[in-house]
Amino acid sequence: MTDDFQKSGPRRVGHVKEVTSLSNPIIKDIKALTNKRDREESGTFMAEGLKLVIDALELGWEIRTLVYAKAAKGKALVEQVAAKTVAHGGLVLEVSEKVLSSVTRRDNPQMVVGIFEQRWKKLDDLRPGRDETLVALDRVRDPGNLGTIIRTADAAGATGVILVGECTDPFSLETVRATMGSVFAVPVVKCSAEEFLSWQKRSGTQVVATHLAGAVDYRTVDYSKKPVVLLMGNEQSGLPDNLAKAADRTVRIPQQGRADSLNLAVASAVMLFEARRHLLTLDDKK
Ligand code: SAM
Repeated sequence: MTDDFQKSGPRRVGHVKEVTSLSNPIIKDIKALTNKRDREESGTFMAEGLKLVIDALELGWEIRTLVYAKAAKGKALVEQVAAKTVAHGGLVLEVSEKVLSSVTRRDNPQMVVGIFEQRWKKLDDLRPGRDETLVALDRVRDPGNLGTIIRTADAAGATGVILVGECTDPFSLETVRATMGSVFAVPVVKCSAEEFLSWQKRSGTQVVATHLAGAVDYRTVDYSKKPVVLLMGNEQSGLPDNLAKAADRTVRIPQQGRADSLNLAVASAVMLFEARRHLLTLDDKK
């Protein structure tokens, strides 16, 4: 890794560099962010698109590097974002379309890409109030599912996503794409199953686990008494017994037809909007 990507130590900052070579070491480092290990080492990740970059900066995310296509030069919003990047001690790169395509691995890349510092919350940072809803995902494997769930959690008004056990990386390019920018809005926590179970006891939440063999129809639960954690199982194997047994409720979404189960992201969306509907009803009654 070059200095630009080290967590500590000197960084090349401030100036706009023109880059046309794919073998430029900074471009190589950015391309390496497709690997989880390189993302972890540098503590950074890539987000594509001007709107996402603007949103992220507005929400206070730290930008390390802004990359934009030559064709975007002079556009007012791009210039503003470039100025902000420099002001925050970041590096601005103006690159050829060929370089941008290779960085994003796309034929028609977005004109702007931002490299941001990753942000994780700790379980104990989560102190949900009564009107809050969180989603906990047990060993979620599919980046598209995780991205869609983060996006849906954001849209439903949930205040956090907890990744329990070995999960896919929320900062991979594919997940970030699927979040459509919500990765910047929804706090993400990662923990082991043991850490989750111990937090659950002291969190003051109602954990509602979803299970194909759930004893209760999800529509009959009152989600408004305590903050709710919706616990969702792994795509292949569902929830393990230890997590399901420790939950306050175990619910199922009744299905018709021949499908064994719903897709994880779809089931999460059904649960999120049902849980939030109870709170909206509560608001209406005020
Ligand atoms: N073969 C897995 C099993 O036996 O649980 C299917 C897992 S399903 C694709 C992924 C997760 O979505 C489940 O663990 C559960 O959390 C949720 N889910 C999907 N359909 C559901 C349903 N009808 N009722 C409750 N939860 C459901």
